[in-house]
Amino acid sequence: MAEKLLIIGGGVAGLSAAQAAREANSEIEIRLVCGEKRPPYYRPRICEIFTGLDAERLLVRNQQWFSEMKIELAYGMVTAIDAASRQAKLADGSYLGYDKLILATGARGNIPDARGKDKDWVIALRYLADIERIAAISGPAVIVGDGLLGLEAAWHLSRSGRSTVIIGRGGRLLSHQLDHEGSVFFLGIVEHAGVRVALNGELAEVDDGLALLEDGRGFEAAVVVCAAGIKSITKLARSLGAECNSGVIVDQQMQTSLPGVWAAGDCAEYQGRVYGLWTAAMAQGAVAGANAAGAERLYQPERPGYMMNAMGTKVWSYGDILAEDGVSARDVAAMHFRKLFFRDGVLAGAELIGDTAPMLQIKKAVDAAMDKETAIKEFLPARTRGN
Ligand SMILES: Cc1cc2nc3c(=O)[nH]c(=O)nc-3n(C[C@H](O)[C@H](O)[C@H](O)COP(=O)(O)OP(=O)(O)OC[C@H]3O[C@@H](n4cnc5c(N)ncnc54)[C@H](O)[C@@H]3O)c2cc1C
Repeated sequence: MAEKLLIIGGGVAGLSAAQAAREANSEIEIRLVCGEKRPPYYRPRICEIFTGLDAERLLVRNQQWFSEMKIELAYGMVTAIDAASRQAKLADGSYLGYDKLILATGARGNIPDARGKDKDWVIALRYLADIERIAAISGPAVIVGDGLLGLEAAWHLSRSGRSTVIIGRGGRLLSHQLDHEGSVFFLGIVEHAGVRVALNGELAEVDDGLALLEDGRGFEAAVVVCAAGIKSITKLARSLGAECNSGVIVDQQMQTSLPGVWAAGDCAEYQGRVYGLWTAAMAQGAVAGANAAGAERLYQPERPGYMMNAMGTKVWSYGDILAEDGVSARDVAAMHFRKLFFRDGVLAGAELIGDTAPMLQIKKAVDAAMDKETAIKEFLPARTRGN
């Protein structure tokens, strides 16, 4: 009888695991359980729904693809797993048996620990259902979180006609993606786009249509949208006895501490890190799926790159943007900014705002450790060089 592979979680990690498992093994029975009761979709694009995108257009694969790949979709949340009988119980009371198990349960959005945080108009931004809830509440929006997610949400909410303010905990926007100089340049673009920003702000309380910060600042809020980090969903893994920290701990094969159980994506922690990135979830899922289906694959983490398309501009950064040796160029009228970062005389990282056309060439040059003089000549237009 064919082996049964059960994948819990129909996000990109689960989907990628299913695909890789099928590519590695034409016989194995593959079931992908989608807790959101819809097939996998492009999570990074969900905020576009605020500005009119049809949710159907977000589906990663159509039904025909699943049929051709012989991947069966099941819908509903898995509420418990009986390891002894190898059965997963769904919320509707039905059971799914398995021989091999992949946990791809992702993460939930974090809600800061503020007074009133349980109110139903305080919503963590993660799932399509969250977008639907936010869209159903009209009026001013306060976005808690000044990372990629918060900025994208603020941009699309603002374009949909809402008054929008971003609360940032630190002193600058996109602190993981941009250095101080890039961040200051970007703040100008955000303000120009009509989105208000309150930096160095810690949400203290939500009440009576207001979001109040610890320093006394207050903002009108019909809805508070939290884009303030993620928490891996590890409940099922813990119930099985798998080793967990922030996420389910996995080795380079994406195997958990339990035989026959793998984990991938935002629920998984590899070498002390939960990546929280689409491409990492996809790559980890592929490794977990292939190994669960009998192949041998190792996960090789990529240097993370970031891309954001919001505030009427594009932001891209890659590699080491903390290196002290940085050379920048800007064109204020066009709102373009470039900065290259060097370590030991070679290109180590870069950030681009506005014109991101050269990002692939720059990425290659970072990977190839291009020398400083050549990189400056190649990528920084001489006329506008800053320092
Ligand atoms: C608005 C937004 C924008 C983003 N933008 C970017 C970006 O620009 N670039 C980038 O790299 N990353 C981005 N990300 C992050 C990226 O989307 C995630 O890293 C990626 O989707 C993680 O995939 P995953 O499959 O591990 O988890 P998820 O996408 O969270 O999928 C897990 C699935 O498992 C389901 N599940 C959980 N528990 C159970 C259970 N018990 N039973 C059944 N199903 C269950 C969940 O409902 C969910 O459907 C963004 C995220 C959001 C929310």
